[in-house]
Amino acid sequence: MELIDTHSHIYDEAFDDDFEQAVSRARENGVSALVLPGIDIASYDRMIAAADRLEGYAYPCIGLHPTSVGPSWKEELQFVRDHLGDRRFYAIGEVGLDFHWSDEFGSEQIRVFEEQIEIAAENDLPLIIHLRDATEQMLRVLEDMKGVPVRGTMHAFSGSYETYRQYLSYGDFKFGIGGVSTYKNAGVARTIERMSLSDIILETDCPWLTPVPHRGERNESSYVRYIAEKVASIKGITVGEVASVTSAGARSLFKLDS
Ligand SMILES: [Zn+2]
Repeated sequence: MELIDTHSHIYDEAFDDDFEQAVSRARENGVSALVLPGIDIASYDRMIAAADRLEGYAYPCIGLHPTSVGPSWKEELQFVRDHLGDRRFYAIGEVGLDFHWSDEFGSEQIRVFEEQIEIAAENDLPLIIHLRDATEQMLRVLEDMKGVPVRGTMHAFSGSYETYRQYLSYGDFKFGIGGVSTYKNAGVARTIERMSLSDIILETDCPWLTPVPHRGERNESSYVRYIAEKVASIKGITVGEVASVTSAGARSLFKLDS
């Protein structure tokens, strides 16, 4: 059985003390690849160091995270452009909109996101899209960017079936299902039930969004198996089927085999 964690911040300081063990546990639990989303300049060197240490296992991405869009957003965005050619990156991400904590830089977030949609299209890369408390604005951006081919993953997807269908009308999307799906009364379970399995990819977003039965502890990539089990139980299919279809989807979206 092969599982892929399509959203792992294993380069975060939370893994400073047991990085190797966390990677070993992921391998032991059938995780054959990690996709590492970028965040900003401050975290870039750590992310690259982890990708180098885990060459052939961890796949680095580059992008400016919406919560890192602040007074120096121009410099941050230029950093993405400047470093894109340094090595192979597997996605532009994570990028998107996050108005949860503040919308002070809301218009800058929208501009930075739109520019990164263009960067992804120019470089034929998928997007890793982060969205929090800005669904209306997200749909508006996708509408405004209609001329640009968009493909990627809606990371930590927790929307309704209608929202899922709406996104699909704007681009070639996969939907990153993570720990939230394992929480009691998670509304997204009803969406997952109706989604096509081939539209789903699995992710942890570790060290955050820890799935049950480890909720409250640090999350790690080996826990992606709990998500696979949850999706299997929601859809009434085997974990093996979830693993093979979602891993094939992740490999094709991020072009991990080429
Ligand atoms: Zn993330």
